[in-house]
Formats: sequence, structure tokens, C-alpha cells
Amino acid sequence: MPELDAVWAERWLRESARVIAEHREELIDLDRAIGDGDHGENMDRGFRAIVAKLDEETPDSVAAALKLAAMMLMSKVGGAAGPLYGTAYLRASTAVSGADALDGSAVAAMLTAGRDGIVARGKAESGDKTMVDAWTPAAEAAQDAGDGVAALSAAADAAEAGAQATKPLVARKGRASYLGERSAGHLDPGAVSSAYILRAAVTAATS
Ligand code: ADP
Ligand code: MG
Ligand code: MG
Repeated sequence: MPELDAVWAERWLRESARVIAEHREELIDLDRAIGDGDHGENMDRGFRAIVAKLDEETPDSVAAALKLAAMMLMSKVGGAAGPLYGTAYLRASTAVSGADALDGSAVAAMLTAGRDGIVARGKAESGDKTMVDAWTPAAEAAQDAGDGVAALSAAADAAEAGAQATKPLVARKGRASYLGERSAGHLDPGAVSSAYILRAAVTAATS
């Protein structure tokens, strides 16, 4: 069984950067449909900064890796997503402070804290067509899923389903809400990027 330790956390961040770069144009297109077309660029800039920082220093714990990510996202990514993701990583870091390796319940605690940070910051509820619609089912699926990798895997599956389920929704938060009913029929970009990032956590543990 792979350990969900500091080495894994660094791999997670690097794999996240890789998938975000790979899907940069897709995230731009999704945000062009219902926002201002910068989500792919914002996320790619933030994760490149994380990788640059990881090339300089090696986090010695999962919490330190998540905190490094939070700091980079808050300082390098503007708009809605930077502070929202930054808060998620910061709260997630606090939730796992002191842990050398995460078991299933620590994974659930980390994802729940991340979700709670996004909600505290952005005030979105489930069904508002935001990244919360990926994070809430992910955090719930991680509860009682089993060991750490099983919890991550259940979370990634749930985040993907949650992101896909944003398509028919009418946005009630963020830029997309300015479109009202016209926001329906498109995936929420932040929910999609969240699903990629949570899948990257599984890839980092299993490949
Ligand atoms: P901006 O909208 O400032 O251009 P981005 O395009 O980078 O920022 O991010 C947009 C994403 O941010 C949306 O797809 C949505 O998932 C998320 N988002 C926006 N507002 C909120 C909010 N209040 N709560 C949760 N998520 C939000
Ligand atoms: Mg945008
Ligand atoms: Mg913007």
C-alpha cells in the first residue's frame, strides 16, 4: 500500500500541475462559455508557481506541502479561484498537521476542511454551480471509504460525477451567475478543475 506521506503530497502537487497544464485550453473554453475565459490560465499560472517553489524546497510533511500550495495560489492567482483554492489548501493543511502519513479518516478530514474553507470564503451552497459541487460529494465519499488510497479514489470519482452534474444547473455564485438561466447547459470550470486535482491525488499514489 502506498504511503500518503510528504513524498506523495509533493507528487500530488506536481501531477496536479501536469494535468492542469494538459487541460488548460479546455478550462479556458469552459470559462469562456459562462465566465471571462481565464480559469485555465489562472490555474496553470498558480500550479507552475507551486512547481517552481517545489524545485527550490522539499516539504517535510503533507501539511507543509499543502501550505506551500496555499501560499503560491493565494499570491499568484487572482480572481475567484485563487483565494478559494488557497483557502482550501490552507484549511486542508491545518487538518493534517502532525500526520506523517494519511489514513482514510485523515483523507476525509483533509477534504472536508478544504471544502469548508471554500464555503467559508465563497458562501456557495451545493447546487449553486461552483467548485463546491465537486468538493462536497468528494469529502462525503471519502468518509468510511476505507484506507487512505480508497478514500482518495472514492473522492475523485465523486468529484468527477459532481462536476458533470453542474451542467444543467443555473449558476448562483461567481461570474457565471451574471448569465442567469443562460449559464445552464455548461460545466462549471472550477468544479472541473477540482475533479482533475482530486484525480491527480490518486494518480500520485498509484502510479
Ligand atoms: P474568475 O471568475 O474571477 O475569473 P476563475 O475563472 O479562475 O475566476 O474561477 C471561476 C470558478 O470559481 C468558477 O467556475 C467556480 O467554480 C468558482 N467560484 C466562483 N465564485 C465562487 C464562490 N462564491 N464559491 C465557490 N466557488 C466559486
Ligand atoms: Mg474566470
Ligand atoms: Mg477572471
